[in-house]
Amino acid sequence: MSTPILVAVAWPYASGSRHLGHLAGAYLPADVFARYHRLAGNEVLMVSGSDVHGTPITVRADAEGISPAELSERYHREFLANWEALDISWDLFTSTGTENHHRVTQDMFLRHLENGYIDKRTTQQYYDPTAERFLPDRYIEGTCPHCGYGEARGDQCDNCGRTLDPTDLVEPRSKITGVTPVLRDTEHFYFRLSDFTEPLRAWLDTRVGWRRHVLNFARGWVDEGLQDRPITRDLDWGVEIPVPDLGPGKRIYVWYDAVIGYLSASKEWAQRRGEPEAWRHWWENPDARSYYFVGKDNIPFHAIFWPAMLLGYGGLQLPTDVPANQYVTFKGGKASASRGIGLTIGEALEVFEPDALRYALAASFPEQSDTDVTMAEIGRRINEELVATWGNLVNRVLSMLHKQHGAVPVTGERQSADTELLATVDELLARGAEHIERVELRAGLRTAMDAAQAVNVYLNATEPWALRRSDPERADTVLVTALEAIAGVRVGLAPYLPHTTRRLDPVLGEVTSWSRPEVRVGTPIDRPSPLFTKVDLAELVDDDA
Ligand SMILES: [Zn+2]
Repeated sequence: MSTPILVAVAWPYASGSRHLGHLAGAYLPADVFARYHRLAGNEVLMVSGSDVHGTPITVRADAEGISPAELSERYHREFLANWEALDISWDLFTSTGTENHHRVTQDMFLRHLENGYIDKRTTQQYYDPTAERFLPDRYIEGTCPHCGYGEARGDQCDNCGRTLDPTDLVEPRSKITGVTPVLRDTEHFYFRLSDFTEPLRAWLDTRVGWRRHVLNFARGWVDEGLQDRPITRDLDWGVEIPVPDLGPGKRIYVWYDAVIGYLSASKEWAQRRGEPEAWRHWWENPDARSYYFVGKDNIPFHAIFWPAMLLGYGGLQLPTDVPANQYVTFKGGKASASRGIGLTIGEALEVFEPDALRYALAASFPEQSDTDVTMAEIGRRINEELVATWGNLVNRVLSMLHKQHGAVPVTGERQSADTELLATVDELLARGAEHIERVELRAGLRTAMDAAQAVNVYLNATEPWALRRSDPERADTVLVTALEAIAGVRVGLAPYLPHTTRRLDPVLGEVTSWSRPEVRVGTPIDRPSPLFTKVDLAELVDDDA
């Protein structure tokens, strides 16, 4: 049965280059998951886009003396180049700068207002008397009240990961002028998140198969008591508020409009297809499933706020799962674009082939705990696992078949070792599917590599190179059996390694489903070139130093 599956991927702030931590945390896992489900015959809609509205963008644009639009356009183009190089298989990667997104956001705002989930309040907010303006959260820095970190931002502490209110900060200072801001009255719209405490608690209780750290975190939030949250702020960059009540100089808060991006992107995708109602298949259909691929700092937005917003809107499906990842750390520091730590995707692609990089990161996906990654570790995985176990296997079998026949030969009778190998590969393929469906993508990759290793063990036991003289027919049977097994392993690796999967199309055919395809007698086999190049470990270790 074909199931509609929405693969919703965190929207990167178009305020700086994305790093390997972001790639391993959200974009690559989502792509692996989407590619698997397409092969499994499900109807996948995978969407995301650049978040062009955050204060990280206005802060940086101010610093560079350019407009937020210019800055976000620059990084949006860079993201598109990253995705193309890595072959991330979006159905749509758009941006929050579109007219469609503004319209969908305003529609949700008006529905929430109409349903009584938005109200207007006067609050005190930090004002910079020198710059003569109210300060959005990210324009304020100070000391974290929880961990004492000295450069916590008004919205979040990068050190302990807690979300903050600017008034929580000890010794706050304006990021614009450095002066101590003063509190002044200002009027804003609030989303009544507290109204959703019991519905969210009940909904979280129905979640099955969620990662424990995600569910615990979300439940902890609900148990601490949900606070109503402002959804407008003093900024002239963002989605316009669709009612005139507040006067000029205010916009919809980015946290509110960014999560709506999943819905607006789905609608944009449908419009571009010429089937403007097609988005409903993923959003209004109770049989549809939705998976939100985000980093753990995004758990509250996707496991609490967005579900509450969807409940407040009515008629739209809540997330099936939020398989949030922990952090990838590079030499102990969190990979964070805002703090400039870690290798950017573009820098990494100058050193590693795209599939090799995909492999090494997927083998280290931080699914259950923070994971350390170094250049040397990436290089070691490529050489000792990907090249040694998979690349060399494919090259060896294709080379022998090319040299002997230049094509897939006719085989003799199968022996039990042959049928056992193929049964093992089929079983591991089925097990890999179970892992990926549970979003255990590391295990899915390991299972496929176990299948590759089984083929290596089979070849070492049967020694077709030695059989060539004594029993050439048996040698052919062994090599073709190995090639059939490789065809199955390749399916298991296809979601992880799209480029090199395609390179085997001439011999093994396009991968179109999650099952081991037949190998056709007589298919020409050209002299193979290696799927991957070994990396120079000594050079990488120097880079780490
Ligand atoms: Zn902190």
